[in-house]
Amino acid sequence: MEAENPLGVDTDFRRPALVALMIFAIAFLAWHTVAEFLFGITLLAVMQLALGLYFAVLLYYVRRHPYSKGLALSFLIPLLSLILLAMAHPDTPPNVFIWVFLMPVFAYSLLGRKLGFVISSTGTLSALLAYLFHYAKTPEGIHPLVLTNVLICLSSIWVAMHLYERNREKTTDELRRMATTDELTGLHNRRQLEKIFDRLASAADRQHDVLAVIVMDLDHFKQINDRFGHHAGDKVLVHVAMLLRNHLRGSDWAFRTGGEEFCLLLPMANRDGAVTAAEMLRCQIEAQPCDFEGRTIALTASIGIAMYPEDGLAFETLLSLADERMYRAKQHGRNRVIGDDMDEDVDLIVVR
Ligand code: GH3
Ligand code: MG
Ligand code: MG
Repeated sequence: MEAENPLGVDTDFRRPALVALMIFAIAFLAWHTVAEFLFGITLLAVMQLALGLYFAVLLYYVRRHPYSKGLALSFLIPLLSLILLAMAHPDTPPNVFIWVFLMPVFAYSLLGRKLGFVISSTGTLSALLAYLFHYAKTPEGIHPLVLTNVLICLSSIWVAMHLYERNREKTTDELRRMATTDELTGLHNRRQLEKIFDRLASAADRQHDVLAVIVMDLDHFKQINDRFGHHAGDKVLVHVAMLLRNHLRGSDWAFRTGGEEFCLLLPMANRDGAVTAAEMLRCQIEAQPCDFEGRTIALTASIGIAMYPEDGLAFETLLSLADERMYRAKQHGRNRVIGDDMDEDVDLIVVR
């Protein structure tokens, strides 16, 4: 089930950091442009002015568009290149090397763990080479204590950023899992249903295809709770979720929408296909009772189906139609599937 996750990954939280760093970079470049013009270093002043203007245009764009790694790279690569160029230049004072400590901070906060690591490695390695190249030739050479200090400082910042990003990713994944799955059964929860329906319906439109919305409710579930206890009821729900997982196709989606109520979205299933799939699930539920502490709990389910786009386009319409049909299955004896309302004589439209 659920071959791909259409929920996507939200990285827009990195945008404020990108905007803030861009504002700092623009202020820094403006100040240096003025200073270098005054000191007569015209070529460097022009280069910094050009980069500052480019960042100003990029900032205008970034404030009006969602964050993307491409945007962050469009900022970070020219900035780091300028810093590395300054480091490589023989006349630049040594204090330019303090920028090396900020490379992991910039890279991880704007790009996350993996790309942050790549950019940090490239930037710091180039800076280190520039440093060695610069000072190995001077009469004092490179003092091992200075180099060790720099490396320890740099590694501490780098490791701290890496661990912070790794823990942030873990926490975000866990929060996302909690927000999107039903704790008891591990199926998707009600909150995801409409969002995923919209995605699947758009895909169906593009491919001139259809989508089945199926509502399934366990029969007499309250009696199971009353007779065997709430734990048994919970175990039944987990058991039914397992049956759904085992018997749905990779492209189908299963949600627990309420107590003992489930909703299934079956892309590329026409009405006949959806009725066949629902009937197969109904049979499996009936044929595979739940074992609870050595006792067998017999189960049945009532199922209603609505078809997109034939029965309606809006999610709410389809859900209430499938729900109505499920209730009609209840009224007509439970443990059955109702696929449409073509005939009020239920024997013609009820499977089984
Ligand atoms: P019907 O065949 O008409 O659907 O009857 P029913 O007994 O299945 O439906 P009803 O709505 O009367 O009862 C549903 C029960 O499900 C009531 C509620 O206590 C129980 N329930 C809801 N959520 C959970 C849950 O997470 N675990 C357990 N064990 N029971 C739950
Ligand atoms: Mg029920
Ligand atoms: Mg119910």
